[in-house]
Amino acid sequence: MFRRATIEVPVGPVMIGGGREVVVQSMCDTDTNDIEASVAQVGRLREAGCRMVRLTTQRPREAESMRDIVRRVRAVWPDVALVADVHFQPAVALAMAGVVDKVRINPGNYGDPAGRQFTELVDKCREAGTAIRIGVNHGSLARRIVERWGDTPAGMVASAMEFLRVCRERGFDRVVVSMKASNVRVMVAAYRELVSAMDEEDMHFPLHLGVTEAGSGIDGRVRSAVGIGALLADGIGDTIRVSLTEPPENEIEVARAILQACGLDRSRAEFIACPGCGRTLFELSPVLERVKAATGHLPGVKIAVMGCIVNGPGEMADADYGYVGAGPGRVTLYRGREVVRREVPQDGALDALVELLRADGVWAERPE
Ligand code: SF4
Repeated sequence: MFRRATIEVPVGPVMIGGGREVVVQSMCDTDTNDIEASVAQVGRLREAGCRMVRLTTQRPREAESMRDIVRRVRAVWPDVALVADVHFQPAVALAMAGVVDKVRINPGNYGDPAGRQFTELVDKCREAGTAIRIGVNHGSLARRIVERWGDTPAGMVASAMEFLRVCRERGFDRVVVSMKASNVRVMVAAYRELVSAMDEEDMHFPLHLGVTEAGSGIDGRVRSAVGIGALLADGIGDTIRVSLTEPPENEIEVARAILQACGLDRSRAEFIACPGCGRTLFELSPVLERVKAATGHLPGVKIAVMGCIVNGPGEMADADYGYVGAGPGRVTLYRGREVVRREVPQDGALDALVELLRADGVWAERPE
C-alpha cells in the first residue's frame, strides 16, 4: 500500500514518520495547573492505546505545571510522549524546549518566520532534541497571509512553507506539520497542496492529520473519518488526532477504527459483514457480535460474516476466513475462497471457526 515517504522524527519515546505505524495522539481537556487530574488523564489515554498526549500550555504558570507533569508521567509511563500546545506566547514555547518532547506552535501567532522569536525556538529545540509541530490552523492565519492569499488552503500552505524553510535553513528537521480546519474540504485540500509544495522543495516532513472542532457523536466521528480517511487513503499522514467534544479517551477507539478501515492498523482482527437481506439465513447481527467477541483480539486476520452462500463468497472481498450462511441453521466455513467445512450446524459453527484458526496457527488466547 502506497504511503508518502517521510523522514523519521523522534518525539521522546515515540517515532513519527519514516513509514512507521501511524501514531494516534490526543489532548487533555484538564486544567494543566491541576497536575493530579492531568496526569490521571494521560494515564487513561495511555490505557486506551494513546502514546502521544498534548496539553494546553498557555502561560508561564502552565509551563511550570508542565514540568511537574512531565516528571510524573515519565516516572510511570516512559513510553508516552508529551507535547506542549502553545499559542500567542513565543516565550512559553521557548521555555518548553528541552522540557517536553514536542512543542506545538501556531505560525499565525508569530510575525516574521525569520525573526528572532522563531529562530531562537528552532535553535533551542535543535540543541535540546525537542521536536516542533508547525500547527497551521485555517481559522488563525497571520493577517499578512490572509491579505495576500485570503483565507484559503493556499494561504495555509504559504504559512507552513515559510516556517519550514526557516527550519531547513537552520539545520533543524525534527519537524511535524499540520493543516487543520473544521471544514473537511478545506482541510483535505490544504494537506494535498502542502504535500505538492513540499515535494517541489524536496521536503519530507511527516504530517499530523486532524479535523478541528469536529463536534461530538456521529457527526464528529464521521467528519474526522472523512477528512483523515481521505488523506490516509492517498498515503498521506504519519500521526492523527480525532478531535471530539467528548472525553478525549473516546477519541482513541475512533482513531484506531479509521486506521483499520484504511488498512493501517493490523493489531486487531478486521471484520467484513454483509448488511443482510431477504436471503439471509441466520440472525446476522448477534452472530457477527459473537464472532467478534471470540476473535476480535487476533492481530492481522480478516474475517467475513456473510448471510448467504449465493452472494456471500463473492462479496467477502479479500477476507482470510469466511463464515457464510449455507442453509437454514447451517454455515459453511471458508479459508480465503476455499471451502474448508461445509454445512456445519450453526450451534457449533463458531467453535469450528476457532478450531480452523487454531489449525492454521492464527489463533491466540485473548490477553487478560
Ligand atoms: S451476502 Fe447474501 S444475505 Fe448478505 S446481503 Fe448479500 S445476498 Fe443478502
